[in-house]
Amino acid sequence: FDNRDGFIWYNGELKPWRESTLHVLSHAVHYGSAVFEGERCYNGKVFKLAEHGERLIKSGEILDMKIPYGAKELDDAVIETLAANNITEGYIRRIAWRGSEMMGVSAQTTRINVAIACWEWPSYFKPEERLKGIRLDLSKWARPAPNTAPTNAKAAGLYMICTLSKHEAERKGYADALMLDYRGQVAEATGANVFFIKDGKIHTPKPDCFLDGITRRTVIGLAKARGYEVIERAIMPEEMADFEECFLTGTAAEVTPVAEIGQYKFTPATVCKTLMEDYMALVRGDKAAVAAE
Ligand code: PMP
Repeated sequence: FDNRDGFIWYNGELKPWRESTLHVLSHAVHYGSAVFEGERCYNGKVFKLAEHGERLIKSGEILDMKIPYGAKELDDAVIETLAANNITEGYIRRIAWRGSEMMGVSAQTTRINVAIACWEWPSYFKPEERLKGIRLDLSKWARPAPNTAPTNAKAAGLYMICTLSKHEAERKGYADALMLDYRGQVAEATGANVFFIKDGKIHTPKPDCFLDGITRRTVIGLAKARGYEVIERAIMPEEMADFEECFLTGTAAEVTPVAEIGQYKFTPATVCKTLMEDYMALVRGDKAAVAAE
C-alpha cells in the first residue's frame, strides 16, 4: 500500500505518498502508541467529519497523547487531502502516533505525529447481494475489560486480537469474526458493531468495553425514526439461537447483514433491508433520511 502516487498530509504539509514514512524506532511501532480514525467520503462529502475528528482527539487523550492540532484544523486537513488526491468517493485514515525521539516504555518527550491518507473506495453495492448476509466465525479472543485496556479509544493496540480473530476466520472461510467480551457477552466484530432482531425489536450490546461506533449511533437513530424499539443490553451468545436477523455497522461495513455466526443462523429480511437503505440514503445526503436522523 506504500508504493502509490498521491499525497499524504503529514504533520501539517502534504507529502508524496511514497515519502510518507516513519523511523523504525518510533514508539508507536514498539509499544502501540497510536490512535486512528476510519472515515468515508460520499459524493465529495465526509460523513460525520467532525465526530471522527473529535473521537481522534479523545482517543489521544485516553492514551495520554495530546494531539498538537485543533479539531477544525484537522477537519480542514482532511478536506485538503481529499482535494489533493482528487477523491470524492473514498476512505480516509487519520492517525496520530508517538515518534522516535526517545526509546523505552516512557515516552514523555516523543513527538505526537499526525498523518491523513485517503484512497478511492466506492461503496456501490447491490442490496440483493448484501442481503444474502455474510458468515462470521465465533472468535476465541475476548474483548478486554475496561480496566485492562483503554477500550473506549480507537487505539491501534486493541486491534492485535482483531487481526488474530480475522485471520483465523479467513482461514476457515468466514468473512469476519464475532468477539465476546471478558464476561462472555456478545461484543462486536473485528471492525464493526453488531445488532440483532427478534419480534420486530432491535437488540444490541451496550458499548461498555468496545467502541461505540459512529455508525452504530447513527443506525440507532435511523431505527428509532422508523419506530423500531432499540434495546441496548447484555446479550449472551446462546441468545443468538433465537434472533431472526443480524447485521453489522461500521464506517467500512456500513450496514452489512449477517447470515451466520458460528452455529447460529439468521435470515436478513425487512429490518436489515430498511436500515441498509436508510443508511445509504443518509450518507448520500437524501433529504428525507437526513430529516429522520
Ligand atoms: N468496532 C471496531 C473494533 C471498529 O474498528 C469499528 C470501526 N471504526 C467499529 C466498531 C465501528 O465504528 P464506526 O461506526 O465509528 O466506524
